[in-house]
Amino acid sequence: MQTVTLSPNAIRVLEKRYLAKSAKGEVIETAEELFRRVAKNIAEADPHYNATEDPAKTEDAFYALMVSGRFLPNSPTLMNAGRELQQLSACFVLPVGDSICEIFDAVKQTAIIHKSGGGTGFSFSRLRPKDDLVRTTGGVSSGPVSFMSVFNHTTEAIKQGGTRRGANMGILRVDHPDILDFIHCKADTGKIINFNISVAITDEFMRAAREDKDYPLINPRTRETVKRLSARMVLDEIAKEAHATGEPGLFFVDVTNRTNPTPHVGEIEATNPCGEQPLLPYESCNLGSINLERHLKRIDDRYEIDWEALEGTIRTSVHFLDNVIDVNRYPIRQIEEITKANRKIGLGVMGFARMLFKLGVPYNCLDGLRVAQQVMAFVRRVGYEQSGQLAELRGVYPNWRGSLHEKRGQRVRNAYITTIAPTGTVSMIADTSGGCEPEFSLIWYKNVMDGEKLPYILDYLIEAAKREGFWSEDLLERIVKNKGSVNGIDQVPPEWQRVFVTAHEISPEWHVRMQAAFQEYSDSAVSKTINLPSDAGVEEVTKAYLLAYELGCKGITVYRDGARPDQVMNVGSFR
Ligand code: UDP
Repeated sequence: MQTVTLSPNAIRVLEKRYLAKSAKGEVIETAEELFRRVAKNIAEADPHYNATEDPAKTEDAFYALMVSGRFLPNSPTLMNAGRELQQLSACFVLPVGDSICEIFDAVKQTAIIHKSGGGTGFSFSRLRPKDDLVRTTGGVSSGPVSFMSVFNHTTEAIKQGGTRRGANMGILRVDHPDILDFIHCKADTGKIINFNISVAITDEFMRAAREDKDYPLINPRTRETVKRLSARMVLDEIAKEAHATGEPGLFFVDVTNRTNPTPHVGEIEATNPCGEQPLLPYESCNLGSINLERHLKRIDDRYEIDWEALEGTIRTSVHFLDNVIDVNRYPIRQIEEITKANRKIGLGVMGFARMLFKLGVPYNCLDGLRVAQQVMAFVRRVGYEQSGQLAELRGVYPNWRGSLHEKRGQRVRNAYITTIAPTGTVSMIADTSGGCEPEFSLIWYKNVMDGEKLPYILDYLIEAAKREGFWSEDLLERIVKNKGSVNGIDQVPPEWQRVFVTAHEISPEWHVRMQAAFQEYSDSAVSKTINLPSDAGVEEVTKAYLLAYELGCKGITVYRDGARPDQVMNVGSFR
Protein backbone atom coordinates (compact mmCIF):
# COMPACT_ATOMS: atom_id res chain seq x y z
CA MET A 1 0.00 0.00 0.00
CA GLN A 2 1.28 3.44 -0.92
CA THR A 3 2.01 5.49 2.16
CA VAL A 4 1.77 9.19 2.41
CA THR A 5 4.78 11.46 2.84
CA LEU A 6 3.55 14.59 4.53
CA SER A 7 5.57 17.51 5.85
CA PRO A 8 5.38 18.23 9.60
CA ASN A 9 3.34 21.33 8.78
CA ALA A 10 0.85 19.28 6.78
CA ILE A 11 0.48 16.79 9.63
CA ARG A 12 -0.22 19.63 12.08
CA VAL A 13 -2.97 20.97 9.81
CA LEU A 14 -4.54 17.53 9.41
CA GLU A 15 -4.46 16.79 13.12
CA LYS A 16 -6.09 20.05 14.03
CA ARG A 17 -9.25 19.73 11.99
CA TYR A 18 -9.25 16.91 9.45
CA LEU A 19 -8.48 13.62 11.13
CA ALA A 20 -11.35 11.88 12.94
CA LYS A 21 -11.30 12.30 16.72
CA SER A 22 -12.81 10.34 19.58
CA ALA A 23 -15.37 11.86 21.95
CA LYS A 24 -12.44 12.71 24.21
CA GLY A 25 -10.78 14.64 21.39
CA GLU A 26 -7.99 12.13 20.67
CA VAL A 27 -7.00 11.68 17.03
CA ILE A 28 -8.15 8.21 15.95
CA GLU A 29 -7.24 8.30 12.27
CA THR A 30 -3.98 8.44 10.32
CA ALA A 31 -3.52 10.46 7.14
CA GLU A 32 -3.62 7.20 5.11
CA GLU A 33 -6.87 6.25 6.80
CA LEU A 34 -8.31 9.66 6.00
CA PHE A 35 -7.51 9.29 2.29
CA ARG A 36 -8.83 5.71 2.34
CA ARG A 37 -12.07 6.85 4.01
CA VAL A 38 -12.54 9.59 1.40
CA ALA A 39 -11.60 7.37 -1.58
CA LYS A 40 -13.97 4.58 -0.51
CA ASN A 41 -16.84 6.94 0.09
CA ILE A 42 -16.48 8.82 -3.22
CA ALA A 43 -16.07 5.57 -5.21
CA GLU A 44 -19.47 4.40 -3.92
CA ALA A 45 -21.20 6.42 -6.66
CA ASP A 46 -19.83 4.17 -9.44
CA PRO A 47 -22.04 1.04 -9.13
CA HIS A 48 -25.06 3.30 -9.32
CA TYR A 49 -24.22 3.94 -13.00
CA ASN A 50 -22.53 0.72 -13.98
CA ALA A 51 -23.30 -2.46 -12.07
CA THR A 52 -20.30 -4.27 -13.54
CA GLU A 53 -17.90 -1.55 -12.48
CA ASP A 54 -15.67 -2.64 -9.62
CA PRO A 55 -15.80 0.15 -7.01
CA ALA A 56 -12.64 -1.19 -5.37
CA LYS A 57 -10.68 -0.32 -8.52
CA THR A 58 -12.00 3.22 -8.51
CA GLU A 59 -11.35 3.50 -4.79
CA ASP A 60 -7.71 2.57 -5.33
CA ALA A 61 -7.34 5.11 -8.13
CA PHE A 62 -8.83 7.87 -5.95
CA TYR A 63 -6.67 6.85 -3.01
CA ALA A 64 -3.50 6.88 -5.11
CA LEU A 65 -4.38 10.32 -6.45
CA MET A 66 -4.64 11.85 -2.97
CA VAL A 67 -1.96 9.92 -1.12
CA SER A 68 0.63 10.83 -3.76
CA GLY A 69 -0.29 14.49 -3.32
CA ARG A 70 -1.27 14.84 -7.00
CA PHE A 71 -4.80 16.03 -6.25
CA LEU A 72 -6.81 17.06 -3.22
CA PRO A 73 -10.52 17.83 -2.99
CA ASN A 74 -11.72 20.86 -1.02
CA SER A 75 -11.64 20.74 2.76
CA PRO A 76 -15.26 19.71 3.42
CA THR A 77 -14.74 16.56 1.31
CA LEU A 78 -11.59 15.64 3.26
CA MET A 79 -13.27 16.33 6.57
CA ASN A 80 -16.74 14.92 6.03
CA ALA A 81 -16.70 12.15 3.39
CA GLY A 82 -17.62 8.81 4.92
CA ARG A 83 -18.55 10.44 8.19
CA GLU A 84 -21.76 11.50 9.78
CA LEU A 85 -21.97 14.96 8.19
CA GLN A 86 -21.21 13.85 4.60
CA GLN A 87 -21.43 17.48 3.42
CA LEU A 88 -18.73 17.72 0.79
CA SER A 89 -18.97 21.15 -0.88
CA ALA A 90 -17.05 24.34 -0.11
CA CYS A 91 -19.21 26.72 -2.12
CA PHE A 92 -22.81 27.83 -1.88
CA VAL A 93 -24.87 30.77 -3.07
CA LEU A 94 -28.17 31.51 -1.33
CA PRO A 95 -30.87 33.88 -2.58
CA VAL A 96 -32.03 36.70 -0.31
CA GLY A 97 -35.56 37.90 -1.08
CA ASP A 98 -37.04 41.25 -0.14
CA SER A 99 -39.15 40.16 2.85
CA ILE A 100 -38.47 39.41 6.50
CA CYS A 101 -39.53 35.83 5.95
CA GLU A 102 -37.15 35.28 3.01
CA ILE A 103 -34.26 37.09 4.73
CA PHE A 104 -34.52 34.92 7.82
CA ASP A 105 -34.97 31.75 5.77
CA ALA A 106 -31.58 32.59 4.26
CA VAL A 107 -30.12 33.23 7.74
CA LYS A 108 -31.24 29.78 8.87
CA GLN A 109 -29.90 28.13 5.71
CA THR A 110 -26.59 29.92 6.25
CA ALA A 111 -26.30 28.51 9.77
CA ILE A 112 -26.93 24.98 8.50
CA ILE A 113 -24.31 25.33 5.75
CA HIS A 114 -21.66 26.89 7.99
CA LYS A 115 -22.07 24.13 10.53
CA SER A 116 -20.82 21.70 7.89
CA GLY A 117 -17.81 23.73 6.72
CA GLY A 118 -19.34 25.34 3.63
CA GLY A 119 -19.00 29.00 2.66
CA THR A 120 -21.94 31.10 1.48
CA GLY A 121 -22.32 33.96 -0.98
CA PHE A 122 -25.31 36.29 -1.26
CA SER A 123 -26.52 39.10 -3.41
CA PHE A 124 -28.37 41.63 -1.25
CA SER A 125 -29.40 43.56 -4.35
CA ARG A 126 -33.03 42.54 -4.19
CA LEU A 127 -33.52 44.13 -0.76
CA ARG A 128 -35.24 47.51 -0.79
CA PRO A 129 -32.98 50.39 0.24
CA LYS A 130 -32.65 51.88 3.69
CA ASP A 131 -35.59 54.14 4.67
CA ASP A 132 -37.81 52.71 1.93
CA LEU A 133 -41.45 51.98 2.72
CA VAL A 134 -42.53 48.80 4.55
CA ARG A 135 -46.22 48.50 3.71
CA THR A 136 -47.29 45.91 6.30
CA THR A 137 -46.01 47.93 9.26
CA GLY A 138 -46.09 51.46 7.88
CA GLY A 139 -42.44 51.71 8.99
CA VAL A 140 -39.25 52.01 7.00
CA SER A 141 -36.72 49.39 5.91
CA SER A 142 -33.31 49.12 7.53
CA GLY A 143 -31.65 48.21 4.22
CA PRO A 144 -29.14 45.61 2.97
CA VAL A 145 -26.16 46.71 5.09
CA SER A 146 -28.15 46.41 8.29
CA PHE A 147 -29.40 42.92 7.39
CA MET A 148 -25.85 41.84 6.56
CA SER A 149 -24.96 42.24 10.21
CA VAL A 150 -27.65 39.65 11.08
CA PHE A 151 -25.89 37.12 8.82
CA ASN A 152 -22.61 38.20 10.35
CA HIS A 153 -23.83 37.46 13.90
CA THR A 154 -25.11 34.06 12.80
CA THR A 155 -21.70 33.16 11.40
CA GLU A 156 -20.04 34.33 14.60
CA ALA A 157 -22.24 32.08 16.73
CA ILE A 158 -21.91 29.03 14.48
CA LYS A 159 -18.16 29.20 14.08
CA GLN A 160 -17.68 28.19 17.69
CA GLY A 161 -19.09 24.73 17.07
CA GLY A 162 -18.60 24.23 13.35
CA THR A 163 -15.88 22.26 11.57
CA ARG A 164 -14.25 25.46 10.31
CA ARG A 165 -15.05 29.10 9.94
CA GLY A 166 -17.84 29.46 7.40
CA ALA A 167 -16.99 32.44 5.26
CA ASN A 168 -19.46 34.80 3.57
CA MET A 169 -19.50 36.91 0.45
CA GLY A 170 -21.85 39.88 0.40
CA ILE A 171 -22.59 41.43 -2.98
CA LEU A 172 -24.51 44.56 -3.90
CA ARG A 173 -25.16 45.81 -7.40
CA VAL A 174 -23.52 49.12 -8.23
CA ASP A 175 -26.95 50.50 -9.21
CA HIS A 176 -28.54 49.79 -5.80
CA PRO A 177 -29.48 53.04 -3.98
CA ASP A 178 -27.45 52.03 -0.88
CA ILE A 179 -24.25 51.45 -2.86
CA LEU A 180 -22.19 54.17 -1.15
CA ASP A 181 -23.09 52.86 2.33
CA PHE A 182 -22.19 49.38 1.17
CA ILE A 183 -18.78 50.37 -0.23
CA HIS A 184 -17.79 51.71 3.20
CA CYS A 185 -19.76 49.27 5.35
CA LYS A 186 -16.79 47.32 6.69
CA ALA A 187 -14.68 50.39 7.36
CA ASP A 188 -17.51 52.34 8.99
CA THR A 189 -18.86 49.68 11.26
CA GLY A 190 -15.80 47.48 11.74
CA LYS A 191 -18.43 44.88 12.51
CA ILE A 192 -19.11 42.84 9.42
CA ILE A 193 -15.96 40.82 9.99
CA ASN A 194 -17.24 37.48 8.70
CA PHE A 195 -17.90 38.85 5.23
CA ASN A 196 -15.88 39.54 2.15
CA ILE A 197 -17.69 42.21 0.15
CA SER A 198 -17.84 42.87 -3.58
CA VAL A 199 -19.67 45.33 -5.77
CA ALA A 200 -21.49 43.77 -8.74
CA ILE A 201 -20.36 45.89 -11.67
CA THR A 202 -22.42 46.09 -14.86
CA ASP A 203 -21.22 46.82 -18.40
CA GLU A 204 -23.39 49.93 -18.39
CA PHE A 205 -21.53 51.23 -15.34
CA MET A 206 -18.11 50.56 -16.88
CA ARG A 207 -19.20 52.37 -20.05
CA ALA A 208 -20.39 55.34 -17.99
CA ALA A 209 -17.09 55.35 -16.05
CA ARG A 210 -15.08 55.33 -19.27
CA GLU A 211 -17.12 58.19 -20.75
CA ASP A 212 -17.32 60.06 -17.43
CA LYS A 213 -21.13 59.94 -17.37
CA ASP A 214 -23.83 59.49 -14.75
CA TYR A 215 -25.64 56.22 -14.24
CA PRO A 216 -28.98 55.51 -12.51
CA LEU A 217 -29.57 54.07 -9.03
CA ILE A 218 -32.68 51.89 -9.11
CA ASN A 219 -34.93 50.90 -6.22
CA PRO A 220 -35.33 47.12 -6.68
CA ARG A 221 -38.82 47.19 -5.15
CA THR A 222 -40.34 49.78 -7.49
CA ARG A 223 -37.84 49.49 -10.39
CA GLU A 224 -37.76 53.30 -10.39
CA THR A 225 -34.66 55.43 -10.80
CA VAL A 226 -34.23 57.27 -7.51
CA LYS A 227 -31.02 59.14 -8.22
CA ARG A 228 -28.09 59.44 -10.63
CA LEU A 229 -24.43 59.28 -9.65
CA SER A 230 -21.18 59.92 -11.48
CA ALA A 231 -19.76 56.51 -12.40
CA ARG A 232 -16.19 57.81 -12.03
CA MET A 233 -16.95 59.12 -8.55
CA VAL A 234 -18.32 55.71 -7.47
CA LEU A 235 -15.43 53.77 -9.02
CA ASP A 236 -13.08 56.14 -7.24
CA GLU A 237 -14.87 55.56 -3.90
CA ILE A 238 -14.45 51.81 -4.37
CA ALA A 239 -10.78 52.21 -5.31
CA LYS A 240 -10.13 54.45 -2.28
CA GLU A 241 -11.74 52.00 0.11
CA ALA A 242 -9.96 49.01 -1.46
CA HIS A 243 -6.68 50.92 -1.33
CA ALA A 244 -7.20 51.53 2.39
CA THR A 245 -8.61 48.15 3.46
CA GLY A 246 -8.45 45.63 0.57
CA GLU A 247 -12.23 45.74 0.16
CA PRO A 248 -14.63 45.84 -1.57
CA GLY A 249 -13.68 43.70 -4.53
CA LEU A 250 -15.34 44.00 -7.93
CA PHE A 251 -17.55 41.29 -9.40
CA PHE A 252 -18.13 41.79 -13.13
CA VAL A 253 -21.65 40.43 -13.18
CA ASP A 254 -22.46 40.96 -16.88
CA VAL A 255 -19.15 39.42 -17.99
CA THR A 256 -19.97 36.43 -15.79
CA ASN A 257 -23.47 36.03 -17.18
CA ARG A 258 -22.22 36.07 -20.76
CA THR A 259 -20.61 32.68 -20.07
CA ASN A 260 -23.36 31.42 -17.76
CA PRO A 261 -23.83 27.92 -19.19
CA THR A 262 -27.49 27.72 -18.15
CA PRO A 263 -29.12 31.13 -18.77
CA HIS A 264 -32.45 29.31 -19.21
CA VAL A 265 -32.27 28.22 -15.57
CA GLY A 266 -31.40 31.58 -14.06
CA GLU A 267 -29.15 34.58 -13.83
CA ILE A 268 -25.94 34.56 -11.78
CA GLU A 269 -25.97 37.33 -9.16
CA ALA A 270 -23.33 36.21 -6.65
CA THR A 271 -20.20 34.16 -6.01
CA ASN A 272 -18.89 32.05 -3.14
CA PRO A 273 -16.76 33.76 -0.44
CA CYS A 274 -13.41 33.82 -2.21
CA GLY A 275 -14.95 34.80 -5.56
CA GLU A 276 -13.77 31.90 -7.70
CA GLN A 277 -17.19 30.32 -8.04
CA PRO A 278 -20.12 32.31 -9.43
CA LEU A 279 -23.26 30.24 -8.87
CA LEU A 280 -27.00 30.43 -9.38
CA PRO A 281 -29.26 30.91 -6.36
CA TYR A 282 -29.18 27.72 -4.23
CA GLU A 283 -26.38 26.20 -6.27
CA SER A 284 -23.43 24.51 -4.60
CA CYS A 285 -20.13 23.39 -6.03
CA ASN A 286 -17.37 21.06 -4.92
CA LEU A 287 -13.79 21.90 -5.79
CA GLY A 288 -10.59 19.96 -6.27
CA SER A 289 -7.07 21.02 -7.12
CA ILE A 290 -4.26 19.35 -9.02
CA ASN A 291 -0.83 19.87 -7.53
CA LEU A 292 1.24 20.96 -10.54
CA GLU A 293 4.49 20.59 -8.63
CA ARG A 294 3.82 16.83 -8.58
CA HIS A 295 3.51 16.70 -12.37
CA LEU A 296 7.07 17.45 -13.29
CA LYS A 297 9.66 15.09 -14.75
CA ARG A 298 13.27 15.46 -13.86
CA ILE A 299 15.64 15.26 -16.80
CA ASP A 300 19.22 15.52 -15.56
CA ASP A 301 19.10 18.65 -13.44
CA ARG A 302 16.12 20.24 -15.24
CA TYR A 303 12.39 19.83 -14.85
CA GLU A 304 9.70 19.43 -17.53
CA ILE A 305 5.94 19.17 -17.31
CA ASP A 306 4.84 15.52 -17.30
CA TRP A 307 1.86 15.88 -19.63
CA GLU A 308 1.02 12.18 -19.62
CA ALA A 309 0.82 12.05 -15.82
CA LEU A 310 -1.15 15.30 -15.83
CA GLU A 311 -3.67 13.85 -18.28
CA GLY A 312 -4.22 10.82 -16.05
CA THR A 313 -4.71 13.03 -13.01
CA ILE A 314 -7.19 15.30 -14.79
CA ARG A 315 -9.30 12.30 -15.90
CA THR A 316 -9.41 10.68 -12.48
CA SER A 317 -10.07 14.05 -10.81
CA VAL A 318 -13.09 14.80 -13.03
CA HIS A 319 -14.43 11.32 -12.26
CA PHE A 320 -13.85 11.97 -8.55
CA LEU A 321 -15.55 15.38 -8.51
CA ASP A 322 -18.53 14.12 -10.51
CA ASN A 323 -18.97 11.29 -8.02
CA VAL A 324 -18.90 13.77 -5.13
CA ILE A 325 -22.16 15.26 -6.41
CA ASP A 326 -23.91 11.89 -5.97
CA VAL A 327 -22.61 10.84 -2.57
CA ASN A 328 -22.87 14.37 -1.13
CA ARG A 329 -25.50 15.01 1.55
CA TYR A 330 -27.15 18.33 0.80
CA PRO A 331 -28.21 20.51 3.71
CA ILE A 332 -31.31 21.89 1.95
CA ARG A 333 -33.68 20.37 -0.63
CA GLN A 334 -33.45 23.27 -3.12
CA ILE A 335 -29.65 23.00 -3.07
CA GLU A 336 -29.78 19.32 -3.87
CA GLU A 337 -32.18 19.85 -6.77
CA ILE A 338 -30.25 22.54 -8.64
CA THR A 339 -26.80 21.11 -7.84
CA LYS A 340 -27.80 17.75 -9.28
CA ALA A 341 -29.44 19.41 -12.30
CA ASN A 342 -26.32 21.43 -13.28
CA ARG A 343 -23.65 19.19 -11.78
CA LYS A 344 -21.00 21.94 -11.57
CA ILE A 345 -17.53 20.88 -10.48
CA GLY A 346 -14.48 23.08 -9.92
CA LEU A 347 -11.25 21.45 -11.04
CA GLY A 348 -8.23 23.70 -10.70
CA VAL A 349 -4.58 23.76 -9.84
CA MET A 350 -2.23 24.57 -6.98
CA GLY A 351 1.54 24.74 -6.85
CA PHE A 352 1.74 26.85 -10.01
CA ALA A 353 4.39 29.23 -8.60
CA ARG A 354 6.52 26.36 -7.34
CA MET A 355 6.24 24.67 -10.73
CA LEU A 356 7.51 27.84 -12.41
CA PHE A 357 10.50 27.91 -10.02
CA LYS A 358 11.40 24.39 -11.07
CA LEU A 359 10.86 25.12 -14.76
CA GLY A 360 13.11 28.18 -14.34
CA VAL A 361 10.41 30.52 -15.70
CA PRO A 362 9.66 33.88 -14.01
CA TYR A 363 5.99 34.46 -13.08
CA ASN A 364 5.94 38.03 -14.36
CA CYS A 365 6.89 37.65 -18.00
CA LEU A 366 5.31 36.44 -21.23
CA ASP A 367 6.82 32.98 -20.76
CA GLY A 368 5.13 32.75 -17.38
CA LEU A 369 1.78 33.62 -18.94
CA ARG A 370 2.42 31.09 -21.68
CA VAL A 371 3.00 28.27 -19.19
CA ALA A 372 -0.22 29.25 -17.40
CA GLN A 373 -2.18 29.20 -20.64
CA GLN A 374 -0.67 25.94 -21.80
CA VAL A 375 -1.36 24.16 -18.53
CA MET A 376 -4.87 25.52 -18.04
CA ALA A 377 -5.83 24.93 -21.69
CA PHE A 378 -4.73 21.32 -21.18
CA VAL A 379 -6.66 20.94 -17.91
CA ARG A 380 -9.72 22.35 -19.60
CA ARG A 381 -9.45 20.30 -22.80
CA VAL A 382 -8.84 16.98 -21.05
CA GLY A 383 -11.41 17.91 -18.39
CA TYR A 384 -14.04 18.47 -21.07
CA GLU A 385 -13.12 15.21 -22.81
CA GLN A 386 -13.49 13.34 -19.55
CA SER A 387 -16.78 15.05 -18.69
CA GLY A 388 -17.90 14.11 -22.23
CA GLN A 389 -17.03 10.46 -21.62
CA LEU A 390 -18.93 10.53 -18.34
CA ALA A 391 -21.88 12.04 -20.23
CA GLU A 392 -21.88 9.03 -22.59
CA LEU A 393 -21.94 6.67 -19.63
CA ARG A 394 -24.04 8.60 -17.14
CA GLY A 395 -25.93 11.13 -19.25
CA VAL A 396 -25.49 14.84 -19.83
CA TYR A 397 -26.34 17.12 -16.88
CA PRO A 398 -30.15 17.35 -16.57
CA ASN A 399 -30.33 21.09 -17.45
CA TRP A 400 -28.16 20.51 -20.55
CA ARG A 401 -31.08 20.99 -22.94
CA GLY A 402 -31.26 24.71 -23.65
CA SER A 403 -27.75 25.33 -22.31
CA LEU A 404 -24.78 26.97 -24.03
CA HIS A 405 -23.24 23.49 -24.21
CA GLU A 406 -26.17 22.21 -26.24
CA LYS A 407 -25.87 25.20 -28.59
CA ARG A 408 -22.19 24.34 -29.10
CA GLY A 409 -22.99 20.64 -29.60
CA GLN A 410 -20.93 19.77 -26.53
CA ARG A 411 -22.29 16.80 -24.58
CA VAL A 412 -20.91 17.13 -21.07
CA ARG A 413 -21.77 15.82 -17.63
CA ASN A 414 -20.94 19.06 -15.81
CA ALA A 415 -22.08 22.65 -16.44
CA TYR A 416 -18.81 24.08 -15.11
CA ILE A 417 -15.61 22.04 -15.07
CA THR A 418 -12.67 24.34 -14.29
CA THR A 419 -12.11 26.82 -11.45
CA ILE A 420 -9.02 28.23 -9.72
CA ALA A 421 -9.57 28.01 -5.95
CA PRO A 422 -7.40 29.71 -3.33
CA THR A 423 -6.49 26.27 -1.85
CA GLY A 424 -5.79 28.01 1.47
CA THR A 425 -5.71 24.82 3.51
CA VAL A 426 -5.32 22.05 0.95
CA SER A 427 -2.13 23.64 -0.42
CA MET A 428 -0.72 23.44 3.12
CA ILE A 429 -1.60 19.75 3.22
CA ALA A 430 -0.01 19.27 -0.21
CA ASP A 431 2.87 21.47 0.94
CA THR A 432 2.90 23.68 -2.13
CA SER A 433 2.03 27.22 -3.20
CA GLY A 434 -1.64 28.24 -3.25
CA GLY A 435 -3.75 28.10 -6.44
CA CYS A 436 -2.26 30.26 -9.20
CA GLU A 437 -0.63 32.71 -6.79
CA PRO A 438 3.05 33.59 -6.73
CA GLU A 439 4.97 32.80 -3.57
CA PHE A 440 4.61 35.51 -1.00
CA SER A 441 8.08 35.00 0.39
CA LEU A 442 10.81 32.37 0.00
CA ILE A 443 11.01 31.98 3.77
CA TRP A 444 8.00 32.65 5.89
CA TYR A 445 5.53 31.64 8.50
CA LYS A 446 1.79 31.42 8.24
CA ASN A 447 -0.65 32.54 10.90
CA VAL A 448 -3.04 29.63 10.89
CA MET A 449 -5.96 28.65 13.09
CA ASP A 450 -5.95 29.95 16.65
CA GLY A 451 -2.98 32.27 16.15
CA GLU A 452 -0.46 29.43 15.81
CA LYS A 453 2.50 30.12 13.50
CA LEU A 454 3.99 27.51 11.18
CA PRO A 455 7.41 28.07 9.58
CA TYR A 456 8.03 27.25 5.92
CA ILE A 457 11.31 27.07 4.06
CA LEU A 458 11.49 26.60 0.32
CA ASP A 459 13.53 23.44 -0.27
CA TYR A 460 13.94 23.98 -3.98
CA LEU A 461 15.72 27.28 -3.44
CA ILE A 462 18.44 25.46 -1.52
CA GLU A 463 18.65 22.78 -4.20
CA ALA A 464 18.93 25.32 -7.04
CA ALA A 465 21.42 27.47 -5.13
CA LYS A 466 23.71 24.49 -4.57
CA ARG A 467 23.42 23.32 -8.14
CA GLU A 468 23.93 26.76 -9.67
CA GLY A 469 26.77 27.66 -7.33
CA PHE A 470 25.20 30.54 -5.40
CA TRP A 471 24.72 28.71 -2.13
CA SER A 472 26.40 29.88 1.07
CA GLU A 473 25.66 29.11 4.69
CA ASP A 474 24.37 32.64 5.30
CA LEU A 475 22.09 32.83 2.23
CA LEU A 476 18.95 32.06 4.23
CA GLU A 477 19.80 34.72 6.79
CA ARG A 478 20.28 37.23 3.97
CA ILE A 479 16.93 36.35 2.47
CA VAL A 480 15.25 36.82 5.84
CA LYS A 481 16.83 40.27 6.19
CA ASN A 482 15.77 41.03 2.61
CA LYS A 483 12.08 40.50 3.46
CA GLY A 484 11.95 36.94 2.15
CA SER A 485 13.25 37.79 -1.31
CA VAL A 486 16.45 37.21 -3.32
CA ASN A 487 15.95 40.44 -5.22
CA GLY A 488 19.15 42.51 -5.05
CA ILE A 489 21.22 39.89 -3.21
CA ASP A 490 24.53 40.02 -5.10
CA GLN A 491 25.49 36.39 -4.84
CA VAL A 492 22.25 35.31 -6.59
CA PRO A 493 22.71 35.57 -10.37
CA PRO A 494 20.23 38.01 -11.99
CA GLU A 495 18.41 35.25 -13.93
CA TRP A 496 17.76 33.37 -10.68
CA GLN A 497 16.64 36.56 -9.00
CA ARG A 498 14.04 36.78 -11.74
CA VAL A 499 12.96 33.14 -11.40
CA PHE A 500 12.53 33.29 -7.62
CA VAL A 501 10.31 36.34 -7.85
CA THR A 502 7.83 36.92 -5.01
CA ALA A 503 4.40 38.55 -4.94
CA HIS A 504 5.60 42.04 -3.96
CA GLU A 505 8.14 42.28 -6.76
CA ILE A 506 5.40 41.55 -9.30
CA SER A 507 3.68 44.67 -10.59
CA PRO A 508 -0.12 44.88 -10.33
CA GLU A 509 -0.26 44.71 -14.12
CA TRP A 510 1.46 41.29 -14.25
CA HIS A 511 -0.76 40.04 -11.44
CA VAL A 512 -3.82 41.00 -13.49
CA ARG A 513 -2.36 39.54 -16.67
CA MET A 514 -1.75 36.23 -14.91
CA GLN A 515 -5.29 36.19 -13.53
CA ALA A 516 -6.60 36.81 -17.06
CA ALA A 517 -4.43 33.98 -18.44
CA PHE A 518 -6.03 31.54 -16.00
CA GLN A 519 -9.49 33.03 -16.55
CA GLU A 520 -9.30 32.29 -20.24
CA TYR A 521 -9.54 28.57 -19.47
CA SER A 522 -11.62 28.64 -16.30
CA ASP A 523 -15.34 28.09 -16.83
CA SER A 524 -15.97 29.54 -13.43
CA ALA A 525 -13.58 32.19 -12.10
CA VAL A 526 -10.14 32.61 -10.56
CA SER A 527 -9.22 33.30 -6.96
CA LYS A 528 -6.37 35.81 -7.10
CA THR A 529 -5.11 38.77 -5.13
CA ILE A 530 -3.64 41.70 -7.01
CA ASN A 531 -0.86 42.77 -4.64
CA LEU A 532 0.16 46.40 -4.51
CA PRO A 533 3.20 47.85 -2.76
CA SER A 534 2.44 49.83 0.40
CA ASP A 535 3.24 53.13 -1.31
CA ALA A 536 0.93 52.52 -4.31
CA GLY A 537 -1.58 55.28 -5.04
CA VAL A 538 -5.35 54.99 -5.49
CA GLU A 539 -4.93 55.52 -9.23
CA GLU A 540 -3.01 52.25 -9.45
CA VAL A 541 -6.04 50.46 -8.03
CA THR A 542 -8.28 52.05 -10.67
CA LYS A 543 -5.79 51.12 -13.39
CA ALA A 544 -5.85 47.48 -12.25
CA TYR A 545 -9.69 47.52 -12.30
CA LEU A 546 -9.80 48.79 -15.87
CA LEU A 547 -7.20 46.29 -17.07
CA ALA A 548 -8.98 43.35 -15.38
CA TYR A 549 -12.25 44.34 -17.07
CA GLU A 550 -10.57 44.84 -20.44
CA LEU A 551 -8.88 41.40 -20.24
CA GLY A 552 -12.14 39.58 -19.46
CA CYS A 553 -11.64 38.81 -15.77
CA LYS A 554 -14.83 38.05 -13.84
CA GLY A 555 -13.75 40.07 -10.83
CA ILE A 556 -10.81 41.62 -9.06
CA THR A 557 -9.52 41.91 -5.51
CA VAL A 558 -6.59 44.17 -4.69
CA TYR A 559 -4.54 44.23 -1.54
CA ARG A 560 -2.02 46.91 -0.63
CA ASP A 561 0.74 45.59 1.59
CA GLY A 562 0.20 46.53 5.23
CA ALA A 563 -3.37 47.76 4.69
CA ARG A 564 -4.72 45.52 7.44
CA PRO A 565 -2.90 44.90 10.71
CA ASP A 566 -4.21 41.30 10.87
CA GLN A 567 -3.16 40.24 7.38
CA VAL A 568 -2.92 36.46 7.06
CA MET A 569 0.56 36.18 5.61
CA ASN A 570 3.60 37.97 6.96
CA VAL A 571 7.18 37.97 5.85
CA GLY A 572 9.37 37.09 8.76
CA SER A 573 12.17 35.18 10.34
CA PHE A 574 11.77 31.44 10.73
CA ARG A 575 14.25 31.16 13.55
N1 UDP B 1 -14.17 28.46 2.61
C1 UDP B 1 -14.88 28.74 3.76
N2 UDP B 1 -14.21 28.99 4.93
C2 UDP B 1 -12.86 28.97 5.02
C3 UDP B 1 -12.12 28.70 3.85
C4 UDP B 1 -12.80 28.45 2.67
O1 UDP B 1 -16.10 28.77 3.74
O2 UDP B 1 -12.31 29.21 6.13
C5 UDP B 1 -14.86 28.14 1.33
C6 UDP B 1 -15.08 29.35 0.45
O3 UDP B 1 -16.25 29.15 -0.33
C7 UDP B 1 -13.87 29.35 -0.45
C8 UDP B 1 -13.75 27.87 -0.72
O4 UDP B 1 -14.07 27.28 0.54
O5 UDP B 1 -14.07 30.12 -1.58
C9 UDP B 1 -12.42 27.38 -1.19
O6 UDP B 1 -11.39 27.89 -0.36
P1 UDP B 1 -10.01 27.16 -0.26
O7 UDP B 1 -9.61 26.70 -1.62
O8 UDP B 1 -9.06 28.05 0.47
O9 UDP B 1 -10.38 25.90 0.65
P2 UDP B 1 -9.56 24.62 1.13
O10 UDP B 1 -10.20 23.46 0.47
O11 UDP B 1 -8.11 24.79 0.80
O12 UDP B 1 -9.78 24.58 2.61
